[in-house]
Amino acid sequence: MPDANPATAPNPPVTPVDPAASRALFERAQAVTPGGVNSPVRAFSAVGGTPRFIRSAQGAWLTDVDGARYVDLICSWGPMLLGHAHPEVLAAVSAAVARGTSYGTPTEPEVELAEEIVARTPVEKVRFVSSGTEATMSAIRLARGFTGRDVVVKFAGCYHGHVDALLASAGSGLATLAVPGTPGVPESSTALTVVLPYNDRAAVEAAFAAHGDRIACLITEAAAGNMGVVPPEPGFNAFLADICRRHGALFITDEVMTGFRATRQGYWGIDGAVEGWTPDLVTFGKVMGGGFPAAAFGGRADVMSRLAPEGPVYQAGTLSGNPIATTAGLTTLRLADDAVYDHISRAAETVKQGIAEAFTAAGVPHVVQSAGTMFSVFLCEGPVRDFADASRTDVGAYAAFFHAMLDRGVYLPPSAYEAWFLSAAHDEQALDAVLTALPDAARAAAQASRGDR
Ligand SMILES: *Cc1c(COP(=O)(O)O)cnc(C)c1O
Repeated sequence: MPDANPATAPNPPVTPVDPAASRALFERAQAVTPGGVNSPVRAFSAVGGTPRFIRSAQGAWLTDVDGARYVDLICSWGPMLLGHAHPEVLAAVSAAVARGTSYGTPTEPEVELAEEIVARTPVEKVRFVSSGTEATMSAIRLARGFTGRDVVVKFAGCYHGHVDALLASAGSGLATLAVPGTPGVPESSTALTVVLPYNDRAAVEAAFAAHGDRIACLITEAAAGNMGVVPPEPGFNAFLADICRRHGALFITDEVMTGFRATRQGYWGIDGAVEGWTPDLVTFGKVMGGGFPAAAFGGRADVMSRLAPEGPVYQAGTLSGNPIATTAGLTTLRLADDAVYDHISRAAETVKQGIAEAFTAAGVPHVVQSAGTMFSVFLCEGPVRDFADASRTDVGAYAAFFHAMLDRGVYLPPSAYEAWFLSAAHDEQALDAVLTALPDAARAAAQASRGDR
């Protein structure tokens, strides 16, 4: 039936493909790469089973090396806002590649992308780097250089990349200095970090009371997305901006995940733009690279002007502002108009409603939480306000749910603590595949959570 309408065609029956080719590649990969992957979550450690090696992607769909197709609800962990292999992004990138791939000189696309970011967000000046980690690391260095202070405040469960000083766990009490969160980070690197519970104003007040004149900056995800989606409570970011200002510390919102994703202005479009406050520095990544390694930090002109070569705070990068990456990001952002965000928002509502119905019918405690167009599901009673709450999610039930969805052609984050991402390419056919898979998968989660797997 070659001319069946894909939007109304029935979903294919469930015939899980044996991932033999992925398994073979994973074995080869493990011999030459730690854990067989280049970023830990890809290894499926939290859900078990064989990580799928993806060969190609188009629109909302991934195809793996065994030929199985999946609706993609990760979208490269956020960047693929327009869907995979968008023709206009591919055309712009191909044209850019034909002109050479890197020159180590300033280029026009860098200026245009910086102008686009400045136009959409509260930042006045921006500097490009190659990863979100580099962006937050550099923003913190700049905040310390600008204020002449050393202490950094962050929240438990907020992830800012693998920066030494931020791979920290709360010390023995609130407002005490942190301890390393992983081997390889010296105590001296976290001794100037304070880790607090998210959404906890009293803890923030106590930390500023104890260390106020030593705090260079407070960094927070604009809306937490790396412990699952935990939005700031109303007024929380405004409170943080205010307490930082009163103590002469800089307020850094990390929008690496939420930037150009939660809304066209990032999460700031939901709170700061409405409430009338601006962060001092903001970090970006993911969507702004259009699927290439590009990230940025930006903010107040007087702060950014402290960076070399204008000012004394050193920061640099051989491939920073790479012309291919900036072309992909610029093309993506120019195409990301209100219609794109409206579409993703409606698609998210459809999926969220399907999740809630499926888990309710299966009798699985759950809560779906959102930050703009981003969302995630916790398999526990809500609300989830901070990392301690998020840790109550039933990871065994999620693993069963994940594999049931995968067998039915839906690729979810292989961890219970990650946001789900949609794109402008998630059409009716893709959403139908998700909605069709959900009831069976929710029943699989129910069985696992009762322990009769
Ligand atoms: C992904 C992410 C980072 C790290 O970005 P990388 O490009 O992976 O280094 C930092 N902060 C947040 C909020 C992120 O989601």
